[in-house]
Amino acid sequence: MARRRQIYEGKAKVLYEGPEPGTLIQYFKDDATAFNNRKHAVISGKGVLNNRISEYLMTRLNEMGVPTHFVRRLNMREQLVYEVEIIPIEVVVRNVAAGSFAKRFGTAEGTPLPRSIVEYYYKSDELGDPMITEEHITAFGWASPQDLDDIVALSLRINDYMSGLFLGIGVKLVDFKLEFGRLYNEQGDMRIVLADEVTPDSCRLWDVQSNERLDKDRFRHDLGMVSEAYREVARRLGILPEGELVELKPQAGKDARPFAPKKAGEPVKDSGASSA
Ligand code: 5GP
Repeated sequence: MARRRQIYEGKAKVLYEGPEPGTLIQYFKDDATAFNNRKHAVISGKGVLNNRISEYLMTRLNEMGVPTHFVRRLNMREQLVYEVEIIPIEVVVRNVAAGSFAKRFGTAEGTPLPRSIVEYYYKSDELGDPMITEEHITAFGWASPQDLDDIVALSLRINDYMSGLFLGIGVKLVDFKLEFGRLYNEQGDMRIVLADEVTPDSCRLWDVQSNERLDKDRFRHDLGMVSEAYREVARRLGILPEGELVELKPQAGKDARPFAPKKAGEPVKDSGASSA
């Protein structure tokens, strides 16, 4: 098979040239990084699960009218996406205090917020993704005021929809990070679409009953059972067809012990840094 041209390699994904102009192939790796790359590991099977979970969530979001870059899943680790001009901003929506928010404001993890809070971070590994405001975004021209209006409206719709979807399967959507891009049609018209991924790498997902973490915090804070937690999210979403995830085997070492996750509010190591 002819080697595909690699367009970009990120921490958890690789982008290749797509089969048609205006498309890309998004490949999900098993790599996990945290704390601005200071922590790295390979979590066997994570890429397969994230590919499926992002496919599922992007499809549901598309159906309820949120435009996304997702076209279709191609295989276990790859999906076809539209090529978009990525807006260099991470949009974080929070429903419950956790992570860098809990650290910044001294709020106990797990405290419900009076209303959903939208934050922006500038995508820059060198700078450690600094928090920014709308002023920075429009002054530096990263997005126009109109783009930002669309981004906030979409982010809040996504939050409402996904909060309900996850609550229906016994999961609290604590917070999440979104990325958006500009998609141009042949006439040159532009619209803002959801890009990147929506997975337990980019969302904090807690079991409603026990507050067990079912997301990347298990990796960030050495809670163990990382791929099992992602698998549990996929199972609850109903997207784990029998026999399909053959790559997922119990991992040796600490991931092999019985599932005994930490709960929200319990002390975790190095709670904080946003460069996830
Ligand atoms: P925090 O700012 O509390 O570290 O993160 C808030 C939310 O955004 C969490 O759900 C976290 O997973 C997500 N997030 C923040 N930065 C990144 C990032 O660089 N990559 C990914 N995958 N998720 C991030």
